[in-house]
Amino acid sequence: MLYLDYSATTPVDECLLDLYVDTCNSYIGNVNSLHELGKEARKKLQKSTLDIARCFDCCSGEIIFTSGATESNMMAIMGTVMALEHRGKHIITSKLEHKSILDLMKHLEDMGYKIDYVEICSNGLINLMDLEKKIRDDTILISICGVNAEIGYIQPLDKIREIIDKQNHKIFFHSDLTQALGKIKIDLSYLDLASFSSHKIYAPIGCGILYKDKKVHIEKLMYGTTATCPYRGGTPPFPLIVTFSKAIEIASKNMVSNNEKCIKLRNKLITGLEKYPIKINSNDKCIPEIVNFSLLSISNKLFVLELSKMGIYVSTGSACCSNKEDSEVLMEITNKKDVYETSIRVSLSHKTREEDIDTFLEKFDIIWNKYCVNRGGK
Ligand code: PMP
Repeated sequence: MLYLDYSATTPVDECLLDLYVDTCNSYIGNVNSLHELGKEARKKLQKSTLDIARCFDCCSGEIIFTSGATESNMMAIMGTVMALEHRGKHIITSKLEHKSILDLMKHLEDMGYKIDYVEICSNGLINLMDLEKKIRDDTILISICGVNAEIGYIQPLDKIREIIDKQNHKIFFHSDLTQALGKIKIDLSYLDLASFSSHKIYAPIGCGILYKDKKVHIEKLMYGTTATCPYRGGTPPFPLIVTFSKAIEIASKNMVSNNEKCIKLRNKLITGLEKYPIKINSNDKCIPEIVNFSLLSISNKLFVLELSKMGIYVSTGSACCSNKEDSEVLMEITNKKDVYETSIRVSLSHKTREEDIDTFLEKFDIIWNKYCVNRGGK
């Protein structure tokens, strides 16, 4: 089995799984309970939150736990919309966003909001001049992902903040940092709101974070909230939070060495792929963990399924839309059908070995020869 779909989700690290089980066994109380067991769990929750805040260089009161990045995105965007209704109905975002944001934007459009999508340059970066032009007096929110899930483009959040401050400093700036965590240095000082997810950094699925700058106010979307969790009702998923906290610490500590390892793997993979008449979509503005390419002459779905039969797992794009839809991102950037209909995403990890890349390339060649040679491919 060769797993090369780490951007979709990551296997849980053994030490994190142990921590999860230990936490479940050691803390049986509800963090909202008054009694001693509740108090112990609450203290541990506070410690884990503080550890996250230390890693993110923010205050623990700025961390809101959710079920994942989808919920964090929803909470950030809808919470802003509800809080700033009186100020305007204009939002700026991009086609690089995750489906959870793009779908929500369509819904907001139906509700009477004006959504502007900022232009994307051919290198995958958002066009900052276009962003500047699109900002209006009634703009309430700009939501641009720090790292795109499909191709891996890294956006200059500092420059976006500069433009916001110059044009209309009242705008809330949200960034989906799900694919950024553990891969690039995160500086929350440029942002008002940011989303994260546990299962992209080797912690169990089911926990997310919404970072909310203490100076900004968003409306809460849930009722039945408590002091331990003022934006989200119910019992916080305490063992998941403890594990996520540890995962963030590990990911931050190992970021540079993991990155170096992935650069080598990425280069090896790209060198191997370059001899085929395909188009490599990822570039030097991307995280090394993602290598996206378009097969041009063969269906990406067919290729992914053929690889899957051989025990190799990659995807056609972002996991949430990989089965049916063409790449909206590549559609926006290239507008070429053969590019956006045939893209494949290979996502790497520090767990990937050099031999894994050899195996991938070997199997790639077999499938390529089976389907592409007769079409004038090789
Ligand atoms: N945003 C991005 C950029 C993602 O890659 C993902 C996961 N595919 C999400 C949001 C959704 O995360 P979750 O599965 O935690 O809801």
